Amino acid sequence: MQAGTALVIEDDADIRALVAAVLAGSGFDVHQSGTGREVEALLEKHRPDLITLDLGLPDVDGVEVCRRIRETSDAYVIMLTARTEEGDRLIGLHVGADDYMSKPFSTRELQARVTALFRRPRHPSGPGTGGNHAPPASAVTPDLDLGGGLVIEQDRREVKVNGVAVPLTRTEFDLLVLFAQRAGQVWDRPSIVREMWQSDFQGSKNLVDAHVGNLRRKLDVASPGAVWIHTVRGIGFRLDPLS
Ligand code: CA
Repeated sequence: MQAGTALVIEDDADIRALVAAVLAGSGFDVHQSGTGREVEALLEKHRPDLITLDLGLPDVDGVEVCRRIRETSDAYVIMLTARTEEGDRLIGLHVGADDYMSKPFSTRELQARVTALFRRPRHPSGPGTGGNHAPPASAVTPDLDLGGGLVIEQDRREVKVNGVAVPLTRTEFDLLVLFAQRAGQVWDRPSIVREMWQSDFQGSKNLVDAHVGNLRRKLDVASPGAVWIHTVRGIGFRLDPLS
């Protein structure tokens, strides 16, 4: 695995130490915090590539912390939650978390999730990456033009509609690239989960649908009424370029 910088936000000292040990074992430079209120300063200082975020923090609600993270960072965010309500997890996904895990979880499961996130193709991007993952200068990935003014600039990890950048999370960007690489073909949900996360875990249908929903909403804001991503009932999704 490609090492990077990780930030563990968790008030339970035992769980915090466990998560930190798992991530350190995976090669990450790990920083820790027991509270949510200093998140902005921690992001500025450490510029993490990965954040594990406890939803139940004593000072600031984890959902609010996630919202603040997304104002400045495109780090991968995995929410760790003791809450069992599906709705609570979905709220986290709607404010920009990339994945979630329920407590108690196994260290092996955490490792697998992190590996899945970082297995995705990575290129330099905006705030938060620390520039640790720049490809060789010769590695130029072509832009993908999806019609209707929508262009994916793969090397910059930017999506633009009519020249204006659309603020996507890493997962939303990765999803759009996944769809665009097989434009016109149907992606079923298990295949999406296999490509983006890992092959088998509960709640994956909701995970896919929440991220696709966020992606669609942002594209619709950028170009109201234009539809690139279609739902194929009972199967999954298909991206059709506009002409
Ligand atoms: Ca907690």
